[in-house]
Amino acid sequence: MTNNSVADVLIVGGGVIGSLTAYRLSKAGHKVTVVEADGIASGASGTSGGWLTPYSHALHPSMLALAPPSLALHRELAISLPAETGIDHGFTEMPYLRCAMTEEGAGELREFQAIRATEGTVMEWISAEEVRQITRWITADIVGALVSNSEPNLDSYRLTVSAVQAAEKHGATFVSGRVTGLTDAGTEGRAAGVDLEDGSTLSAATVLLAMGPWTGACGEWIGSPLPIKPQRGQMVQIATDNDDETPPLEAGFSAVELPGSVLKKRLTDTVVGATKEDVGFDRSTTQDALVLLLEQASRLSEYVATAQITGQTACLRPITPDGRPYVGRAPKWDNVYVAAGHASEGINFAPVTAVAMADLIAGNEATVDISALSLDRVVTPV
Ligand SMILES: Cc1cc2nc3c(=O)[nH]c(=O)nc-3n(C[C@H](O)[C@H](O)[C@H](O)COP(=O)(O)OP(=O)(O)OC[C@H]3O[C@@H](n4cnc5c(N)ncnc54)[C@H](O)[C@@H]3O)c2cc1C
Repeated sequence: MTNNSVADVLIVGGGVIGSLTAYRLSKAGHKVTVVEADGIASGASGTSGGWLTPYSHALHPSMLALAPPSLALHRELAISLPAETGIDHGFTEMPYLRCAMTEEGAGELREFQAIRATEGTVMEWISAEEVRQITRWITADIVGALVSNSEPNLDSYRLTVSAVQAAEKHGATFVSGRVTGLTDAGTEGRAAGVDLEDGSTLSAATVLLAMGPWTGACGEWIGSPLPIKPQRGQMVQIATDNDDETPPLEAGFSAVELPGSVLKKRLTDTVVGATKEDVGFDRSTTQDALVLLLEQASRLSEYVATAQITGQTACLRPITPDGRPYVGRAPKWDNVYVAAGHASEGINFAPVTAVAMADLIAGNEATVDISALSLDRVVTPV
């Protein structure tokens, strides 16, 4: 069975990367179809922490250089997307406090502060008393904290859904289906579209593979290694504003001595996260993770221990061996592209990825430098 709709661009995967790229391309006048196997934002894009930080994964200079343009794009999207769709995606600028519980930790944070300063990001060191003026959630028993005012957060489910609705307004089509391979165009290095599990095909001039951790399976389709693996992350949601006895939480925070963080959200409950587990594509939650996450966060905040638990989620990060995503044209293909492998920072880097992909696919000069994310490094490692 063949589907006759011929798109300019067919995007596989309705996560934040595929959806924002669809928005960019459709807004620029391209005929876009997105095919999603499960539901829009049903992967990590729907249940991430939504923290816009470039510091939670591999600190590669090329990624750090992309962080300011991506943040600027997020700030623009926080205005333009709600204006187009009426959906508030919860973008909120609030302080993020990296605490030190020991002098050693304080030293580590001061080094972090000095490196960030060389990149032009100012983070102020404050005392434990000053921390208590920002939030009483953090124990007084700390040495001090580094305040960051350039790591906002948002609701990544709403961001993705809003991008989908905005893309639809610009003519993009979202369809259900599980892609099983590229349709042979009869010409080497060209795909005619994609094949679906039900035996049908979707035709397109260009194909973009944006399937998060599942993109690893596309290595077989494109005939080049695509080493993207899933890493499970579990998080716990807690209510922080519903008790008169408990002071409101006005910031996100973590301790350099502990893994994980506590993220205050504007539209949803506070998030305590996250585990990093190598369990394949298993997306179930576990009691062990619940206990571990709350125990760790409670060492920094007595209120975490007493807060009402309102949920627990698990989703999969797309992890690459060198910590950088693959963003660019697939080796040996003229019209097949990949944008996947953003690990713990896919929400943060989604806008800049979408802009870069839209530039590349439209044949325009890239407005941001994504050369370090090229897929050439899987063929010739750099
Ligand atoms: C616990 C946790 C917390 C996180 N917190 C943050 C954070 O605070 N900040 C941040 O920036 N990042 C965070 N991340 C990372 C971020 O969520 C991901 O990097 C990002 O969501 C990846 O987006 P994506 O669109 O590439 O993939 P996904 O969201 O996984 O979307 C891929 C889509 O492709 C679809 N698909 C798969 N196979 C097929 C197929 N064969 N055919 C059709 N469709 C298919 C899937 O159903 C899915 O909807 C977190 C991740 C985890 C696990």
